[in-house]
Amino acid sequence: MFGRIRWRIALVFAALTLLCIGGLSVYLSHLFRDDYVDSLRMQLADQAWLIGHSALPYLTNGQTDGLDELANRLGERVEARVTIIDRSGLVLGDSEEDPATMENHADRPEVVQAISGGIGSSIRYSATLGYDMMYVAVPVEVGGEVVAITRASLSMSAIDSSLSHINRNIIFGALVAAAFAVLLAFQVSKAITRPVEKLTQASKRLAEGDFSQDIRVTSRDEVGDLARAFNRMSARIKEMVGLVTAERDKMAAIVSNMADGIIVVDGSSRITMMNHAAETILGISSDSAQGNTFIEAVRDYELDGVVQSCLGSGEQQTGMVETRPGIRALAVIATPLRGESGCLLLMHDLTEMRRLQTVRQDFVSNVSHELRTPVASLKALAETLRDGAIQDPSVARDFLDKISIEVDRLAQMVQELADLCRIESGESPLEMRPVDVPPTVERVSDRLKAQADRTGLRLETEVGSDLPRVMADAGRLEQILVNLVHNAIKFTPPGGRISISAEVRGRDMVLSVTDTGVGIPADELPRIFERFYKADKARAGGGTGLGLAIAKHIVEAHGGRIWADSVEGKGSTFSFTLPLSSYPPSTPQQT
Ligand code: ADP
Repeated sequence: MFGRIRWRIALVFAALTLLCIGGLSVYLSHLFRDDYVDSLRMQLADQAWLIGHSALPYLTNGQTDGLDELANRLGERVEARVTIIDRSGLVLGDSEEDPATMENHADRPEVVQAISGGIGSSIRYSATLGYDMMYVAVPVEVGGEVVAITRASLSMSAIDSSLSHINRNIIFGALVAAAFAVLLAFQVSKAITRPVEKLTQASKRLAEGDFSQDIRVTSRDEVGDLARAFNRMSARIKEMVGLVTAERDKMAAIVSNMADGIIVVDGSSRITMMNHAAETILGISSDSAQGNTFIEAVRDYELDGVVQSCLGSGEQQTGMVETRPGIRALAVIATPLRGESGCLLLMHDLTEMRRLQTVRQDFVSNVSHELRTPVASLKALAETLRDGAIQDPSVARDFLDKISIEVDRLAQMVQELADLCRIESGESPLEMRPVDVPPTVERVSDRLKAQADRTGLRLETEVGSDLPRVMADAGRLEQILVNLVHNAIKFTPPGGRISISAEVRGRDMVLSVTDTGVGIPADELPRIFERFYKADKARAGGGTGLGLAIAKHIVEAHGGRIWADSVEGKGSTFSFTLPLSSYPPSTPQQT
């Protein structure tokens, strides 16, 4: 408690004041004593003069016997001890003692001084009375000659009692003054330190993050200046913190919304921060990773290698890393942090780009492969014709028919490729509107009935007339159904049956094309919607392998799903969903 500045100021102030009052009291006490003693001395001198004056007739007449009696009388009157001494020091009269028993007083200092013509005084022990006395002696002169000495004296105890009374008053006054001084000391120190305490409290709140500190300043002294400086500082800090916070929030928003993964590690390779993209890329959560070392959290030695060499060398490191081999391809940059140990790892996910690259390469190689076969057949047929077959009309016609078939295949493939490109690039947007399913199904059935009949197949429709409408592009819906029924015709041996059905399931309409055809092997089912995929090349005949890929694209653009169920040798069912027009998908896509 006494460590506080208020107390220190108060104590110092009080101590100084008490010291002054104490010193003053001692000084006053001495001053009063001296004054008192001086005035007593003067008083005693006056009395001694008067005694001398009274004793003078006795002395000049030689009646020294009466002097003792005179001394007694005057002693009572002046309330002091009165002594009359002759020039030789012989005591002639004394108000307290018998002069006959008293020794010669010629050696008494006050007597010595008085004999030499002045006022003699001394304070000393009285051998006669046995206590301290104050003596004042004056000469009694006749015709310029000292004939006797008269002395008035007082007991020091009487003087001391008067002095102690004065001292008591001084002490009482001093104590009262001291009490006031101490009280004043506390008040003054409180007044001095109150603004400082206010400043301290405000500083503490500032340190705790409360930047709205504004101290009310009234004084124009140094403390007032300090408070004003504090207010300016607090306002500036508030402004700076606001700027820094806004900047930090902006950076945090940028970092967390970045598509690239970011991880920050400290000098001991512990993860201090990672963004959402990094969580997704590495398949770990930021909460569990933070505080762990990079290798503990990420468990990828190749990535850890990049981080470690950055930490070790203090230089930027770049590289290509495959995490969880075959799953993610990353371009990584590890940059040392400026001003502190640690590094920032930036991971750019190339997986999708790589996939698209592969898809593009596959597509090009598939297209060229698919084109090569009919082109090679055409070339062979043309060369055979040129080399003489053209001379034989029946062979020539047969060859020309084959050429025509190959050209049709090429034309179909080119048509389907163009279609796929248009759908994928979004060049032909869907014209979504409520569509009645039964008439659409009937139209498809009518278009393909003749073809089915030719191959000895029954084509049936199982669609109730009271079905709700779907939200779809009617032309595209027809295209999907034609593709599926066409496939069913292709892959169903004569005598088989194909049916088109539709039913409502939840918010969707499920349309299915079922056949009693050759079916699809279970291991090939998942792949039949890929471009150019043909389940069984031998049976695929003249197909392009693009029909189902196109159907899948269109269905998904409607917000639907397409799938196939099949038992090899027994038949297949291709189904897809479309949203009912009363529940359109929230964001219809474009093809
Ligand atoms: P295409 O029919 O032109 O070959 P698709 O993409 O339409 O190309 O079909 C891909 C493959 O899926 C076909 O080659 C075929 O092997 C298989 N497939 C499609 N529909 C059926 C079906 N109804 N029955 C048996 N297999 C089918």
